[in-house]
Amino acid sequence: MISCSDRLEFVHSDIRGPLYQEALRMEGEGVNVLKLNTGNPGRFGFPLPNSVRQALALHIDEAVPYCDVRGMRDARNVICTYHIGRGLQGILPNDVFICNGVSEAASMLMNALIGTGEEILLPSPNYSLWSNNAYLCGGQPVFYRCDPNNAWNPDTEDIRSKITPRTKAILVINPNNPTGAVYSREILLEIADIARKNHLVILADEIYDRLIMDGLRHESIGALAPDVPCVTFNGLSKSHIVCGFRCGWMVFSGPRGELDDIKNGVMKLASMRLCGNALTQLVIPAALVDSQSTQEMVVPGGRLYEQRKATMEALDRIDGISYVPSRASFYLFPRLDETKFDFESVGDFAMKFLHEQHVLVIPGTGFDWHEDWRFRIVMLPEPDVLTKAMGDLQYFLKQHRI
Ligand code: PLP
Repeated sequence: MISCSDRLEFVHSDIRGPLYQEALRMEGEGVNVLKLNTGNPGRFGFPLPNSVRQALALHIDEAVPYCDVRGMRDARNVICTYHIGRGLQGILPNDVFICNGVSEAASMLMNALIGTGEEILLPSPNYSLWSNNAYLCGGQPVFYRCDPNNAWNPDTEDIRSKITPRTKAILVINPNNPTGAVYSREILLEIADIARKNHLVILADEIYDRLIMDGLRHESIGALAPDVPCVTFNGLSKSHIVCGFRCGWMVFSGPRGELDDIKNGVMKLASMRLCGNALTQLVIPAALVDSQSTQEMVVPGGRLYEQRKATMEALDRIDGISYVPSRASFYLFPRLDETKFDFESVGDFAMKFLHEQHVLVIPGTGFDWHEDWRFRIVMLPEPDVLTKAMGDLQYFLKQHRI
């Protein structure tokens, strides 16, 4: 057998990993599995916003040729305006790169920024896109702790203790996947200060910035640190239900010129694939103006709000489960009290839950969280489906109590 590249040794995408493969195998045998593994709202009956449908229909001919390597001008203008509205200063359309999802933007940026052996500070828990890209570019992810006892805010002391002469950047995922946390302004200012004092580039993954609940306000860290080089990532996958379109972007901000070398590197990588998917770029101007369809989901009566409520209320009835309420996105990262059940590991719990109740959840280890036993629930099905799934969890845990 021909072996695969050693660069893949530590790469793991558990949301589509062995548990998911097992769920597919079970489905192949006719078992109905409730798959709560990926944040893919279109799979759970969330409709495509009309604004997006119309923009696509109206402009489709414009997407026939390859477009600008950075992305279509109209779309980049609107992205620029959006981020200026969120507080980024001094940015121009040429500071924006539109990519095939935040996923591709992350890959390009990391390859341009992180050299062999260089370190990047990543949150634990972490969305594995980022650690995987660190491995692939020959860099070294160094995990800093987010604190469940402080509403999952990053532990800034831990961040400070992990900086070395090789540290080049720090990633902030806010709002967070998998915890649903929205970071406080104070913590963001502290992280900005750490970056400033240690010459780190801030990477800000803010793809959930429009999916905020409970009247909280999202602060863009790049806006709080205009003097620090920063790359902010965002996209339409979640807010406009278009995960399959592959529509994301990154914006360079901070002192002009400081990130030029990295931008040139990104330009080389972007040029290799000629341009991003032009079809998705057509919808960006309409989508970023249409905040209403997103907003409707996150207020009382809206799907995301009610699904979160149903999930948390059902979990409140389960002995051995605790959680920090999710404030944004559609993820919850509850804790399972390992002293109360007969599982060998959190992975064993997830596999048995899949086999016995046909519900797929992803263990915290898949998000580089090893401190205690957690798992991520994707709260995208309708409230009654989630209530039933959590009832199944309650029954299942009763069978495994020691
Ligand atoms: N960043 C975070 C925090 C995510 O949760 C996801 C997808 O779940 C992505 C990036 C990937 O987004 P995209 O669909 O734009 O590639």
